[in-house]
Amino acid sequence: MKILVINCGSSSLKYQLIDMENESVLAKGLCERIGINGSMLTHKAPGKDNYVVEKDMPTHKEAIELVMAALTDAKYGVIKSTDEITAVGHRVLHGGNTYTESIVVNPDVKKVIRECFDLGPLHNPANLMGIEACEAAMPGKPNVAVFDTSFGMGMEEKAYLYAIPYEYYEKYKVRRYGFHGTSHMFVSREAIKFGNLKKDAKVIVCHLGNGASVSASIGGKCVDTSMGLAPLEGIIMGTRSGDVDPTILQFICNHEKIDVNQMLNILNKKSGILGMSGVSSDFRDVGKAAAEGNKRAQVGLDAYDYRIAKYIGAYTAAMNGVDAICFTAGVGENDKDCRKRICAYLGYLGVKIDDERNNIRGEERVISTDDSKVKVMLIPTNEELAIARETLALTTK
Ligand code: ADP
Repeated sequence: MKILVINCGSSSLKYQLIDMENESVLAKGLCERIGINGSMLTHKAPGKDNYVVEKDMPTHKEAIELVMAALTDAKYGVIKSTDEITAVGHRVLHGGNTYTESIVVNPDVKKVIRECFDLGPLHNPANLMGIEACEAAMPGKPNVAVFDTSFGMGMEEKAYLYAIPYEYYEKYKVRRYGFHGTSHMFVSREAIKFGNLKKDAKVIVCHLGNGASVSASIGGKCVDTSMGLAPLEGIIMGTRSGDVDPTILQFICNHEKIDVNQMLNILNKKSGILGMSGVSSDFRDVGKAAAEGNKRAQVGLDAYDYRIAKYIGAYTAAMNGVDAICFTAGVGENDKDCRKRICAYLGYLGVKIDDERNNIRGEERVISTDDSKVKVMLIPTNEELAIARETLALTTK
């Protein structure tokens, strides 16, 4: 059985075709610059040359058509016909307050995705376009929506409600949703399996990529997570500020004569490690600058580690303990020094890192010592596989 996984951004479309017999990737690719001049598709299949198509893609519909053509291409393709695809799984950013789990798409699901446009203005419209493009290209084929917010729906009210007038929750569903849910779900479950932990293990996952978040879960069910109504809250990210005192918005708006939309743009795109260091949003560049003596870069990295360590402490308290701490995504999987620096804050939990085990990139491994009181693990995230598993489970019952 083959599952196609689609992840639409506002001007991009990533895809993977996964053979669920052995969970191997048959082909994957990316359509870039959809709706912009110079759109192009890059298609990769193991054992074949890369296939690049430069062709206008005014909308996601044309992009999906090109993906289908690439997948079935005589030379670069991996299937004879799209009939071989069992179902399509879509990453959907926001399911609002309605969906606590993935679901097979029907008109009601599309309505909810549409209703959440203002909660996910960049992603939800693109996600819906991707779904409708697949419906048009493969009529009758089941499409499954896997929401980035589903994992966070496991939280209790005390964790997801903000201390603002309750009417805003009632009127506008203002609450903590959390994002990277597919990744947190995948990594927390994988940690229990790979780490041989008990079923109801208390796990903290640090998803440290360009966007970054921390979650706490018990037995794979979310207790708390650092992102909020939108992916801006929480730890320091590549370009996003994470937690700030809201008064800062008013203060800077007044001084700089800008409005709240411009301010949010600054908090989303010009802040984080980029804003603090003034060097880059890429942690490799910031690390290099710090090593060369750039003070702002060093302080940025120190603040980054410190904020993550504070979240780990808070989540340990929230769960009254922690059995495992996992690192994942770009920085978490590749930067051994960052993992070590964060864990250096956690001596009070009995965390001990084994430097030799920690000297690794992108591989599933326990990186703590045998006598560490908490298991620390590197678990590479695989959101596409998580989406494919959800899609298979919902369409082959
Ligand atoms: P996203 O999916 O949010 O774009 P990723 O999970 O792909 O992010 O992570 C991208 C980030 O990972 C890059 O910004 C880069 O800073 C960081 N990264 C990748 N490799 C390394 C490395 N070897 N050391 C430090 N940071 C790294």
